[in-house]
Amino acid sequence: MLRHLFVFATALLGTDLPLADKPEINVYSARKEALIKPLLDRFGAARQIDINLVTGKGDALLTRLQAEGPNSPADMLITTDVGRLQRAKDAGVLRAFSRPALLANIPAQYRDSDGYWYGLSLRSRVIVYAPDRVEADALDSYEGLADDAWKGRICVRSSANIYNQSLVAGMISHHGVQHTDTWLRAFVGNFARPPRGGDRDQIKAVASGRCDLAVVNSYYLGAMLNSNNDREKALAQQVRLFWPNQNGRGAHMNVSGIGITQDAPNRDLAIQLVEFLVSDEAQAWYAKVNHEYPVKVGVPIGETLAAWGPFKADNLAVEKLGQLNKAAVKAMDRAAWD
Ligand code: FE
Repeated sequence: MLRHLFVFATALLGTDLPLADKPEINVYSARKEALIKPLLDRFGAARQIDINLVTGKGDALLTRLQAEGPNSPADMLITTDVGRLQRAKDAGVLRAFSRPALLANIPAQYRDSDGYWYGLSLRSRVIVYAPDRVEADALDSYEGLADDAWKGRICVRSSANIYNQSLVAGMISHHGVQHTDTWLRAFVGNFARPPRGGDRDQIKAVASGRCDLAVVNSYYLGAMLNSNNDREKALAQQVRLFWPNQNGRGAHMNVSGIGITQDAPNRDLAIQLVEFLVSDEAQAWYAKVNHEYPVKVGVPIGETLAAWGPFKADNLAVEKLGQLNKAAVKAMDRAAWD
């Protein structure tokens, strides 16, 4: 009776009741809220599930998951770059899972072969160049950026950046450590300036004439071309995208992806959410707002990406990039890539 009175009083005061049986899913996401929340809310509204979103930097969220251990409220981790997904797997914070829809909708090269994580969207690391100073015909491949012709003309961010580490891991996977060391020395020797800033800063540096080409993730150019900031948009319009390695292995690919945590309190619901995220509807929305490519084959892409045309993607299993991350970091150190 007392308890009933208490519940009644709390309801009158408008306080949130502890509705223990309202289903919920707790998401840790390294993607910005605007880039993922509308999709989660859509799933939550359709299924009457509360979806609680915690956003943060990828490495910080991993540290938090490790610190919380079995007491973590998190059901899933959404993060970018296979290097970070592999770190989460290695750290023991994820538990493998599988569903027929995931295996059918996500090509094998874009998911972990043990089922610890699944790619949700694709990005390529491409060459962006100034068309008034670089002939597209002079460009060919990542390997070709080691040529003397590019001395003092290349901008790229630091070796601490995981996208660059994954690019070098891909080089090691295709050519071995020795060849990669040789390539890296020459490539780093062609830098126009010591690495600084993010991928957008490299694009701006090409547009402003500080360098003639840069190596960046494709979606940064897409985001700048669609920016509300007129100056950023104008700078992006001055550069062009070049798809590397089209006559060989194809352009370097990477993913944003998702894993279910080791002790997920709402594991079954969380897996259903992952299935929703690779549905046609979710794939089209998610890729479009992020200016990425859907991981599911046949899902339509937006205007910006369509304008870049079709391209040949490297068919390397991206988990290799994560597995070779440490070797890549060491190779970049040897080449004195800051
Ligand atoms: Fe990024």
